[in-house]
Amino acid sequence: MTLKPHEQELINQVQTGLCIGGTWQPSSTGATFDVQDPATGEVIKTIADATVDDALMALEAAVTAQEAWAETSTRGRSNILRRAFDLLMDRHEDFALLISIEMGKPISEARAEVTYGGEFLRWFSEEAVRVRGDYRPTPEGAGNIVVSHLPVGPTYFITPWNFPLAMATRKIAPALAAGCTVVIKPAELTPLTTIFLVQLLEEAGLPAGVVNVVPTTSPADQSSALLKDSRLKKLSFTGSTPVGIKLLEAAAQNVLRTSMELGGNAPFIVFEDADLDRAVDGVLLAKFRNIGQACTAANRIIVHESIADAFAQRVSDRVAQMKIGRGAEESTDIGALVDGRAVAKAERLVADAVATGATVLTGGKSIEGPGSYFEPTVLDRLSPNSALMSEEIFGPVLGIIRFTNEEEAVKIANDTDYGLVSYVFTENVHCGQRMIEKLQTGMMGLNTGLISNAAAPFGGIKQSGIGREGGFEGISEFLSTKYTLIPR
Ligand code: NAD
Repeated sequence: MTLKPHEQELINQVQTGLCIGGTWQPSSTGATFDVQDPATGEVIKTIADATVDDALMALEAAVTAQEAWAETSTRGRSNILRRAFDLLMDRHEDFALLISIEMGKPISEARAEVTYGGEFLRWFSEEAVRVRGDYRPTPEGAGNIVVSHLPVGPTYFITPWNFPLAMATRKIAPALAAGCTVVIKPAELTPLTTIFLVQLLEEAGLPAGVVNVVPTTSPADQSSALLKDSRLKKLSFTGSTPVGIKLLEAAAQNVLRTSMELGGNAPFIVFEDADLDRAVDGVLLAKFRNIGQACTAANRIIVHESIADAFAQRVSDRVAQMKIGRGAEESTDIGALVDGRAVAKAERLVADAVATGATVLTGGKSIEGPGSYFEPTVLDRLSPNSALMSEEIFGPVLGIIRFTNEEEAVKIANDTDYGLVSYVFTENVHCGQRMIEKLQTGMMGLNTGLISNAAAPFGGIKQSGIGREGGFEGISEFLSTKYTLIPR
């Protein structure tokens, strides 16, 4: 199926070049790469493939723009972010469609991503004017201490393909609010949304060179060149833990400040006293949103033995009704996975779960034909040894494991190197409180399957990351603290 005329018209509006110092330009070698619609496998656009030299030019542009941007009044920076938010809301539907076409998620979820992603522009337009310092006397009375928070300087962002808009605005908005300039490298599978966002930022009045965009098919070469350059002052990465570890090693050479938003393996615990309707709705959202391709996706469904049969039945009845199709169609519940590798991974994980004793209640197979589809799947009676328990699934596969007491549930939940988010369903406030303290994650949903909010400090512990995005905390990732002593 080829693009519909209004989809083609939208894709035509997206620039094909790199944005360096306010100029849209081809790669210095003329190299290009193709972007596909995962629902059909068709090429939808061919764009410039940035070389290392291009990336270094982008850093040069960010360095050149840094001083003037840091000196722009906080109200001036705030106004640009607010205009960008307003423009994004005007183009809400265009951005949603673009996300759905290049990434595959259902259009209703793409709309939700535009609302969520846009909120970072509005939130940080409000935070830009609230950066404040501190003034305190020295205890012995000999002087005063002035504490200031200053922009860290030029930053480099690497973002994943699963939320092409929100992962970009969650970094760009606080950086701009803090007075930092940006070089951004979107994921090669979904670069178009970021390019379109940078076009929108220009329209909102962002000066040339403040945000530069350099998509590439050689991310390791690009990051290694930029991380070696001492003019770069900050790296913020969202993606998988193995790549995050490599980047941390490289960043250590320059003692570069880093923020890391990495993988997850979220436990979803349903206690005996849970409101079952709520828990079923919660798990469908936490597992199948974004076709299971979210760092916050519920990965291990840990259900009390006494309610597990009823829970499993209700979940699989609902999942069996989900409609599979191209994300851009209104009726679709489950879109295409991002590529064939994601389908192969889901196949492997289901085969392993079955081999280690799990039962397939619904789904379990990939779908023949163009596009990378996998049936939404429910597995019951997972073995603790199955790969589904330790690997980040990143697909529409839900596996249930049973427990008999609270201590066991906590032990299963914490038995992972990841620590991004946990979900807990219980009507017992004391149990809920205990879980806040005992579950080793940076975030928790208590009786909800959706935790993302621009006002909240998003981030993980253990191998899920370092730092927080969003909330009051988000801007401080882009500020450095300086104190000045003034003797009396
Ligand atoms: P990935 O790590 O393969 O890629 C992420 C980004 O890193 C892409 O832009 C890619 O081009 C780039 N990259 C890959 N290898 C690189 C290298 N050697 N040097 C520099 N850059 C490199 O991850 P992905 O498949 O795009 O995204 C899925 C992963 O992202 C999952 O693990 C998911 O949990 C994680 N994620 C985390 C969050 C969070 O906030 N914690 C949010 C979304 C996704």
